[in-house]
Amino acid sequence: MRTLVIDHPLVTHKLTALRDAATDTATFRSLTAELVTLLAYEATSEVRVQPVSVETPVGTARGVKLARPVPLVVPVLRAGIGMLDGMIRLLPMADVGFVGLARDEESLIASTYANRLPADLAGRDTFVLDPMLATGGTLATVIGLLAGRGAGSITAICLLAAPEGLRHLEESYPVQVPAVRVVTAAVDERLNDRGYIVPGLGDAGDRLFGEI
Ligand code: URA
Repeated sequence: MRTLVIDHPLVTHKLTALRDAATDTATFRSLTAELVTLLAYEATSEVRVQPVSVETPVGTARGVKLARPVPLVVPVLRAGIGMLDGMIRLLPMADVGFVGLARDEESLIASTYANRLPADLAGRDTFVLDPMLATGGTLATVIGLLAGRGAGSITAICLLAAPEGLRHLEESYPVQVPAVRVVTAAVDERLNDRGYIVPGLGDAGDRLFGEI
């Protein structure tokens, strides 16, 4: 598994504003979309394309277009939905699947309550959207679902990651078959005893959509 931490002043600027407990919901939502678009630019650097030629007003230009089947974007319910707009802005032609996982606040173990994914993902580039890579349990489950359906590559886009979660994924996916990558804006210090990333940004779902 590869981890890519995006070191860019605009990424850090937006992440810092997201961390700020004083940032209101409306600003949090728009900043999340902007930050995801920046992360998605890096996360799609290896997306499959095929050569094409187009006629410009003055000649023939060689270029590329996205290969088929088109990429699949998978927001993890609930907080991953807040990342979908920013991702789709960059990949408007992508298909979208959904996976829902809920974390038991005592055991911190995630269980799957929704799964709307194509049965066959053979050779497809897939992008999982989950803002907080905390224990890694959720992402490990989703990566397992995608790998089990034959995904050609799996890239998780996370606003923030904890070292514990990255270790968990590295142990779960030591071999790159299929290629698994995590793209994030920062790796924080640690998890606290409630499974929150420290210093983190709090509960991403609550900050995006309000407390349930
Ligand atoms: N989920 C969140 O929303 N925040 C954390 O810090 C950890 C998991």
